[in-house]
Amino acid sequence: RVVQTIMRDVTDLKLSTQKERDLQHQLTRSERLSSIGRLAASVAHELKNPLGAIRNAIYYIRNALGTNPILDTDPHLRDIMKLAEGEVDSAVVIIGELLDFSRVVQLVTRRTSINELLEKLPNIVLIPDNVEVVWDLDLTLPSAMVDPDRLNQVFCNLANNAVQAMPQGGKLTIRTHFIVETGDDDDKGRDMIGVEIEDSGVGIEPHHLSKVFEPLFTTKARGTGLGLAISRNIVEKHGGVILVRSQIGKGTSFTVKLPVKPPEDGGEPS
Ligand code: ADP
Ligand code: MG
Repeated sequence: RVVQTIMRDVTDLKLSTQKERDLQHQLTRSERLSSIGRLAASVAHELKNPLGAIRNAIYYIRNALGTNPILDTDPHLRDIMKLAEGEVDSAVVIIGELLDFSRVVQLVTRRTSINELLEKLPNIVLIPDNVEVVWDLDLTLPSAMVDPDRLNQVFCNLANNAVQAMPQGGKLTIRTHFIVETGDDDDKGRDMIGVEIEDSGVGIEPHHLSKVFEPLFTTKARGTGLGLAISRNIVEKHGGVILVRSQIGKGTSFTVKLPVKPPEDGGEPS
C-alpha cells in the first residue's frame, strides 16, 4: 500500500509538473515574442549610426578617387564600391523592417482614395522589365478613412513579395473592388474595400500558408520574415483582414479587406 501511495504521488507530481511546463512554455512564448520586438528595436537603432558612417565613407572615397587612374588599373575597385553601397542599402531596409515591426501601430487616418494610392506603387516599388503590371481598378470605389502611409507600406510589402516570387518575370495584377453590405442602415458602416495583389510566381507550399504571417517566417536566404507580420498588424489595426490564396507554380494572391469607415471613430460622412 505504501508503495501504491508513493506511486500515486509520483504520478500526481508528474502531471502537475507537465501542467507547469505547459504554462511555462506559453509564458516564454509570449515573453519571447515581446523580447524579440524589444531586441529588434534596440539592435536596429544601434546599427543606424554605423551604417550611416559606412555610407558616408563610401561616398567620400568615391569622390576622393574622382577620375584617379587607379580606377582603370584595378577594375574591381568600382564593383566593390557598388557592392558595398548596395549591401548598406539592403541593411537599411532590414533595419527599417525591424523598427516597423517593434513599433506600436498608431494610425493617422485621412480620407483617402485607395485607387490613387495604388497607382503610385510602381514609383515606389522597383518593378523589373520582365514583370507586367495589370490594372483592374474599380472606379466606383468610395474613399476610405485610412492611414495612407501605413497602407502604402502594406501594398509595398505585398508588391515586393510578388516581384520576388517571379524571378523569371510574370504578371502582377492590382485589383480593387467595392464590397457593399446590403441590408438596413446599420450595415452601411460595414461597406468594405477589397484590394488584391496577385502574382504569377512560384506560389506558396500548402504547409507554409498558415505560417506566412508569423513574424520571422521566411523562405528567403536574406529575408527578415517581417513584411507580412507588419502588414497584418497594420490591416488589423484598420479593422480589416488580410487573406492569402496560392497555388504552387501558378501564383499567389493576397487580398486586403478594409472597412470604408474604421471601427472606432466611424470617420466622417462622404
Ligand atoms: P520576407 O519577404 O522577408 O521573407 P514576408 O513576411 O514578406 O518576409 O514573407 C514571408 C514568406 O512568405 C516569404 O519568405 C515567402 O516564403 C512567402 N511569401 C510571401 N509572399 C509571397 C508571394 N507573393 N509568393 C510566394 N511566396 C510568398
Ligand atoms: Mg517580404
